[in-house]
Amino acid sequence: MNDRQRSLNGIIVNGFRSWDELLDYVDRDRRIYVAINAEKIIAAPDEVREMINRNVGYCDGIGAVKALKRKGLKDIVRLPGCELWLKIIERYHRDWKFYIIGASPEVHEATVRKLREQYPGINIVGHRDGYIKDDAAREALIADVAEKRPDAVFVAMGSPKQERLMGEMQQRHQAVYVGLGGSYDVYTGAVKRAPRLWQKLNLEFMYRLVRQPSRWRRQLNYIPFLYRLYTGKL
Ligand code: UDP
Repeated sequence: MNDRQRSLNGIIVNGFRSWDELLDYVDRDRRIYVAINAEKIIAAPDEVREMINRNVGYCDGIGAVKALKRKGLKDIVRLPGCELWLKIIERYHRDWKFYIIGASPEVHEATVRKLREQYPGINIVGHRDGYIKDDAAREALIADVAEKRPDAVFVAMGSPKQERLMGEMQQRHQAVYVGLGGSYDVYTGAVKRAPRLWQKLNLEFMYRLVRQPSRWRRQLNYIPFLYRLYTGKL
């Protein structure tokens, strides 16, 4: 571990001080970027933990930021995963090749369309929705990514599915991989992000819970997370 990293419940997390710092890093270090939040710190399966520790975990959630601060990294910021992919596109769309994976077929198509409108000339070398029906389709996708050699691959399929897929793709082709969860749904307006005030007050997770109550089981991970955070057991 270097001096900008800490282990949280066995997961190595990087404390970045700004978007620019993370975006510079992304260009130099073409690995998988994994959004770390309280849920992952508590509940990520071992294989995902190992995958994160071979790659780059960054603070997507306020829980991860608080935990790193308690471990002595004072000047770090929250870098929400749902913004990271767009920041990467903004900075690198004139030079890089992109591969877009994930979400339902409708949301997926709408995402690719909107990206092409918003960034004319963007080089999307391949894309497919996130509902991959069998091993043959999965293998075909991995082979296509290896053949097209994108600089960045965005995968929005939810955790741990997206982490598994990125791990497999990485073995065949080195690139910047970013797991995005439900970000295409937010980008296309199918799901609303919390209003800015909620985001500022660090209540974005609460907003998601109110809007999508089916997530409550996942949000229960906050209880052991907070307990461990405040008893120093992370
Ligand atoms: N999804 C997918 N393939 C699947 C299951 C889910 O592409 O087999 C998509 C789903 O359409 C949604 C996203 O993955 O766009 C999951 O979003 P969620 O909010 O659950 O992700 P989180 O960020 O919470 O991990």
